[in-house]
Amino acid sequence: MDFSLTEEQVAFQDSVRRFAEQHLAKDALARAHDERFPWDVAKLMAENGLFGIMVPEEDGGQGGTLFDAILAMEQIAYVCPRSADVLQAGNFGAFRTFAEYATPDQKKRYFEPLLRGETIAAVGMTEPDAGSALTDLKTTATKVQGGYLLNGGKVFTSNTEDAGVFVIYCRFGPGVNGIGSVLLERGMEGFRLGQPSRYMNGETWCALYFDNVFVPDENLLLGEGGFRKQIAGFNVERAGNTTRALALGEYCFRQAKAHAEQRKQFGRALMEFQGLQWKFAEMRVALDSAQLLLYRAAVRAKGGLPDAQDVAMAKYACNQAGWMCSNESMQVMGGTGYSQDLLIEYCVRKTRGWMIAGGSLEVMKNRIAEGVFGRSFSQRPPKA
Ligand SMILES: Cc1cc2nc3c(=O)[nH]c(=O)nc-3n(C[C@H](O)[C@H](O)[C@H](O)COP(=O)(O)OP(=O)(O)OC[C@H]3O[C@@H](n4cnc5c(N)ncnc54)[C@H](O)[C@@H]3O)c2cc1C
Repeated sequence: MDFSLTEEQVAFQDSVRRFAEQHLAKDALARAHDERFPWDVAKLMAENGLFGIMVPEEDGGQGGTLFDAILAMEQIAYVCPRSADVLQAGNFGAFRTFAEYATPDQKKRYFEPLLRGETIAAVGMTEPDAGSALTDLKTTATKVQGGYLLNGGKVFTSNTEDAGVFVIYCRFGPGVNGIGSVLLERGMEGFRLGQPSRYMNGETWCALYFDNVFVPDENLLLGEGGFRKQIAGFNVERAGNTTRALALGEYCFRQAKAHAEQRKQFGRALMEFQGLQWKFAEMRVALDSAQLLLYRAAVRAKGGLPDAQDVAMAKYACNQAGWMCSNESMQVMGGTGYSQDLLIEYCVRKTRGWMIAGGSLEVMKNRIAEGVFGRSFSQRPPKA
């Protein structure tokens, strides 16, 4: 087993780091405190080949791998944590599901602007009564002449206010096999956004309401029976959430290490106190072990889509490492770490959200346990 990166991968890492240092370092703090999507960064990334890293060249992408995209994400996040969300939007999120399953016509209409960084895609899965129990979703797509009528609603859709296209999970029929997805555009008749709400991480989201929205046939992404494919695409989104969590933990670790080396109390550097040394030892082990699980998931991905069990293990480990390391780094840095003059507190808020988003830690553990025992465990009450 070889744990070293190839020369090409190292060169790619270097080039992304130089890009980040040159273009993103300066305004990293302000960017994190601005709730709107950083379109200037999206444009820059698109122009510099950082959008569509995993997309085949014939579709306008870079023809790279999931591992390449993860390496890029790490380098961006180490310099500008908020810009990692932009890389997510242009590679991992709904974007990736779209790249995998969209028709040539849909790619033409929606994918090209996404690749150019002119718009982003949001994914509406969660509903008021369907969070972890996603397959309980009630939004329906009813067949009519020339398309579907969409009725229902979504909550917690990230990037609601900035997205130009929405991938909406909906029900064409009963059961898991009845679930698929359609593409909506802002402004379609009957498609309404609620008032913005704010997460602890500073981002906003709006409830989505669908009242007899006519969705033409051309906007069907995955019809009945599409749910498993949809989740296979979503596992890439999970890998992006996982990478950002880990990378933000590493970002904080590096800041805390530099702080502990130069800050003196009681006449000696903080790093000389064993109570703090052990925090660094624990953080290093958490970060490195989680990164190994993430890299393994990426290397073993087939056709760019990682195995569900591999991603669940990586997400569980990286979410916890990211949160623990940002939180412990804050402790090491005292009032300086808690201050909004640095990005440590931002990373604490961001990493906390990823323990819930994209499949909570508990849901990941349920998935991992199924892999351990080689069988599924229904979470539903026994039928009477
Ligand atoms: C920052 C952020 C961004 C998000 N972005 C999006 C987005 O873009 N699109 C979208 O559709 N959704 C998004 N979500 C919603 C997210 O997917 C849900 O919050 C998540 O799936 C959990 O659902 P819930 O909030 O309804 O919690 P619930 O499902 O009600 O769960 C509550 C608690 O119970 C636990 N729990 C539930 N079932 C089980 C079980 N069987 N075993 C053990 N524990 C269980 C959960 O882990 C959790 O701790 C986002 C959420 C966050 C926080």
